[in-house]
Amino acid sequence: MKENVFNKEAFIEDVKENVKNLYRKTLDEASQQEIFQAVSYTVKDVIIDDWLATQKAFDKQDPKMVYYMSMEFLMGRALGNNMINLKMYKEVKEALEEIGLNLDEIEDQEPDPALGNGGLGRLAACFMESLATLGYAAYGCGIRYRYGMFKQKIKDGFQVEVPDNWLKNGYPFELRRPEYSYEVKFGGYVRAEVTEEGKTRFIQENYQSVLAVPYDMPIVGYGNHVVDTLMIWDAEPMECFELDSFDKGDYHKAVEQENLARNLVEVLYPNDNHIAGKELRLKQQYFFVSASVQRALARYKKHHDDIHKLPEKVTFQLNDTHPTVAVAELMRILLDEEGLSWDEAWEITTKTCAYTNHTIMAEALEKWPIEIFSRLLPRIYQIVEEINRRFILQIQAEFPGDNGKVARMAIVYDGQVKMAHLAIAAGYSVNGVAKLHTEILKNEQLHDFYELFPQKFNNKTNGITQRRFLMHGDPLLADWVSEHIGNDWITNLAHIEKLAIYATDKKAQQEFMNIKYQNKLRLAKYIKEHNGIEVDPRSIFDVQVKRLHEYKRQLLNILHVMYLYNELKEHPDMDFYPRTFIFGAKAAAGYKNAKLTIKLINNVADVINNDRSINGKIKVVFIEDYRVSIAEWIFAAADVSEQISTASKEASGTGNMKFMLNGALTLGTMDGANVEIVEEVGKENAFIFGMSSDEVIAHERNRDYDPMQIFNSDQDIRKVLMQLINGFYSPNDPELFRDLYNSLLNTQCTQFADTYFILKDFRSYAEAQKRVMEAYKDEEGWAKSAILNIAHAGKFSSDRTIQEYVDDIWHLDKITVEV
Ligand SMILES: *Cc1c(COP(=O)(O)O)cnc(C)c1O
Repeated sequence: MKENVFNKEAFIEDVKENVKNLYRKTLDEASQQEIFQAVSYTVKDVIIDDWLATQKAFDKQDPKMVYYMSMEFLMGRALGNNMINLKMYKEVKEALEEIGLNLDEIEDQEPDPALGNGGLGRLAACFMESLATLGYAAYGCGIRYRYGMFKQKIKDGFQVEVPDNWLKNGYPFELRRPEYSYEVKFGGYVRAEVTEEGKTRFIQENYQSVLAVPYDMPIVGYGNHVVDTLMIWDAEPMECFELDSFDKGDYHKAVEQENLARNLVEVLYPNDNHIAGKELRLKQQYFFVSASVQRALARYKKHHDDIHKLPEKVTFQLNDTHPTVAVAELMRILLDEEGLSWDEAWEITTKTCAYTNHTIMAEALEKWPIEIFSRLLPRIYQIVEEINRRFILQIQAEFPGDNGKVARMAIVYDGQVKMAHLAIAAGYSVNGVAKLHTEILKNEQLHDFYELFPQKFNNKTNGITQRRFLMHGDPLLADWVSEHIGNDWITNLAHIEKLAIYATDKKAQQEFMNIKYQNKLRLAKYIKEHNGIEVDPRSIFDVQVKRLHEYKRQLLNILHVMYLYNELKEHPDMDFYPRTFIFGAKAAAGYKNAKLTIKLINNVADVINNDRSINGKIKVVFIEDYRVSIAEWIFAAADVSEQISTASKEASGTGNMKFMLNGALTLGTMDGANVEIVEEVGKENAFIFGMSSDEVIAHERNRDYDPMQIFNSDQDIRKVLMQLINGFYSPNDPELFRDLYNSLLNTQCTQFADTYFILKDFRSYAEAQKRVMEAYKDEEGWAKSAILNIAHAGKFSSDRTIQEYVDDIWHLDKITVEV
């Protein structure tokens, strides 16, 4: 079944056959979930042929390939996007309609594979899709967590975490590949042995091990028959243990190994931009990295006999420091299994591994206590120590007498193993994820390393895939774009610039606003069903959806809502345009202030939404369980994109790009990729406010910011802050929000209050919000800006990002797949 010969009857027959074989039912007896499974298997049948053909092309064309190593892949649902990329979406939708089935409802049966927290994991997913679409050979390497990102329930305004058992019905798009299983060893000790040729060999003994078993998921390229692979690893016990035939010691070991396998991939750590430092997390890292490196080398060796030429055919991209043990694991295999010398192994490793930095925040930088690291990975630790010893010699040779450098740059120092330092020392490339972020890395955070290795540093501004975030999420807008400028934007988003000439076209403006209205209706209906709140689709949809984090400043947003409400109560006849403030965010389970902010948003929503005196001019909505599938609808319905992080803290952001592509205007700080968004669209088509990153960094350095001065001099701000502690939003427990108040104003120690400069930026934010309101009143002007945002979103395709990685870092060869 190929795109150009899509056969409705055959497709439906196939679905019926699947329902029969899987469930012994006819179509009209099957549940929606069963129909989802059946349709997915039919789609998978189509994919399988291309997947096989792609593997054949790999074997024949022998391209260089990238292994994208990431602890997280926030894939989102596959069915709809697979059909889009197979160019059969509309045909299937029609075929199903003819037999009384609704594709939206069927898609809604798919669990969101949420093997990631937020932006970093979603980036990995967009990258895989772009790699396949551009025709590059790629493997995503990750973990098949049995429980992904928790499901969020809101109970009495509080977040409650519910396990995400995404595999409970079976996942139709995965394929278990036991023939590519590998052993991964933990613990024990290292024994050195001198061989007959007088070489020293290192052997790990008395270890525990697990069997890593990969599950492959297809990554379908758009209309090119290329299907790349996401391999995610499951852990199984090495051997099933038999109840007889072993002594007591073996029994314990067998049980321990079984438990190790069970626990290893049980759950994703739900922290975004924050390291918990748990031993199990390091086990997870080594587990998937070791298995992935073993599979990559086995594949290479099947087709090539000179291991020294590995870098010509293989590159490992490390998505943040989480997979950095790959450096030492590759060294281990080259030294201990391939028998290479240190210099040979180092030469290969440092041409194979490359590192992407995702944050400058201290709490996100990975450091492992030597005790944990060396106990868990004794041979890997030896290798890291030797890398460190040689690296320190290099630092001393380059900067003689500068002991500060060694202290700041060493890989092993002060009882800790510093993963970023290892990644930079061994990587042939170090990239940041937006221009501003890369500059901050070079000038501040990683300045010492930049001085030593200026040639390694480069920028790769993040991107998003337009196939998911426009075609799938916003089909009305996607069709409208294609009607005006044709289809080229689907595989080359730069072409969307052709839309700019319609920005001042009255008819186009009307059509755009009407599409936005339809999308707002779709979301309003969802909100009515899920929150029981009526929102006016004619109001401004002002949206902040992203992980809940203090640096992202959801607190600034909700404090401004509280301020606006006070204003409206005091001046009922003030000039006002109705606004709907929409939030969506998960907080890490142990992050107190983040969880309290969710409660505050919900309590503010309760008070304001139920105050009849303001005639519904402000509504506040907290959307439960923010995730990729609902995100697609939210971007489509947004008028205003809240990107209000403290300048310098958001490395790039990608939500900002999804909003832009859907015609929302950015209300944001000059942070991360916002800077480049404004560069593309012009600051007259965005609402920029707040301190610059330079100003923030200067205040941090000088420690001269005192939020108390603002509190004392600004009565509107003071009133809002007092409402946090006088029970206004929590009459039964006036102390409930005390910690949020203290985070802004701790009177004992002002140096550590308001570390994210919320009060400092408040007035500037409120003023920008006023500009938003004024701008929205001018419907034509707004439509013009919105269309220009879409037209200037070309740069933010992950296709562009991937092409830059290929050109500057990976140097991959394109493949073609014949069918
Ligand atoms: C894009 C995306 C993110 C990242 O959003 P930011 O605003 O860049 O932090 C997080 N979660 C989901 C579900 C996303 O789709």
